[in-house]
Amino acid sequence: MKSVVIVGAGIAGIEAAAKLTKSGVKVFLVEKEKEIGGHLRQWDRLFPTQENAQKVLEDIIDGLDNRAEVLKNVTVQHVEKKGDKFEITLTNNRSLTTDAVLMATGFDTFNARRKEEYGYGIYDNVITSTELEEMFKTERVLCTNGKAPERVAFVHCVGSRDAKVGNRYCSKVCCVTAVKQASEVKQLYPEAEVYNFYMDLRMFDRKFEDMYHEAQTSCGVQFVRGRLSEAAETKDGRLQIKAEDTLLGKPLKLTVDMLVLMTGMEPCSSGVALAKKLKIEQGSDRFFNGQNAYNLRNFTSTQGLFLAGTCTGPKTIPETLADARAAAAEVLSYLTK
Ligand SMILES: Cc1cc2nc3c(=O)[nH]c(=O)nc-3n(C[C@H](O)[C@H](O)[C@H](O)COP(=O)(O)OP(=O)(O)OC[C@H]3O[C@@H](n4cnc5c(N)ncnc54)[C@H](O)[C@@H]3O)c2cc1C
Ligand code: SF4
Repeated sequence: MKSVVIVGAGIAGIEAAAKLTKSGVKVFLVEKEKEIGGHLRQWDRLFPTQENAQKVLEDIIDGLDNRAEVLKNVTVQHVEKKGDKFEITLTNNRSLTTDAVLMATGFDTFNARRKEEYGYGIYDNVITSTELEEMFKTERVLCTNGKAPERVAFVHCVGSRDAKVGNRYCSKVCCVTAVKQASEVKQLYPEAEVYNFYMDLRMFDRKFEDMYHEAQTSCGVQFVRGRLSEAAETKDGRLQIKAEDTLLGKPLKLTVDMLVLMTGMEPCSSGVALAKKLKIEQGSDRFFNGQNAYNLRNFTSTQGLFLAGTCTGPKTIPETLADARAAAAEVLSYLTK
């Protein structure tokens, strides 16, 4: 029986494992965390249709039907290609010999502390979009003083499209996430004022433009074109933000109760460390490069070593799943040729 190690059990790794095991391939699905599911475990309701993220994740995991050998709390310590085989040592000292390796190591969210001027980790009530998702999950979207926020500002492009932090690329999913989250805050607190500070709005997929339209019309979210320069805490524990409204060409000051930073995606650091050992080529954005950007996205220059999901760049869930299925088909074709 042919075998493959899939590194990373986010939705890309799980979906590829489901497809490969269905075709009779032995799959070892290696996950560094104690649970599988990757970032989806942190999301509440999903764009564009407000589906429950945990329900979507359960459905994807159900596709596995217990056919893969899932190894949690471990990662790859050593990997070497010997002839046609990959020899792998895991951090629990277990050794595996497989015919292929599929990298599905996903992404990390940008560390908001690196944008010191926004005060994350310094001021109360400066939170990230990931933390706001956690709050939606527990249905407690509150300031640290336990009160409901009366004014909330969302800042787009935190750690993306920003040469100063070394990330010039767009993270693709944060504009639509900001529109979704801003609308959800308004649904929760109709009296609250909610502002989105953006550079451009990238509503690229089906239904996204409708979400943007509804955010403005039914929900009353306000959109300001302009980048925030800084945030500072006021004496009464609120946050004063400074920005320039680039449509009006005027500087703007606003006091808010909660500031939400739309942190972008970076390639997962643990995945990058492994990619270096495997000599996987990285782009200037550090995401992994396939053999080309078109029909060979899932291939590396090493025979038998494949890529899937957001380790090759920001993607939505349907894009990630489609990419994982494509990768699984390429792995299968390699193993059966
Ligand atoms: C704030 C935010 C909200 C989002 N909301 C939506 C939404 O509403 N709708 C939508 O369509 N998309 C959304 N997305 C995008 C969605 O989260 C991704 O498409 C999806 O998570 C990508 O899955 P993945 O498997 O590629 O990566 P991940 O989810 O990052 O999974 C990768 C897995 O690999 C593991 N791993 C990494 N390195 C190693 C290693 N060396 N060894 C072992 N395991 C390893 C990680 O622990 C993780 O479990 C959102 C993204 C963000 C940032
Ligand atoms: S998707 Fe929007 S918020 Fe995210 S990096 Fe791109 S432009 Fe900025």
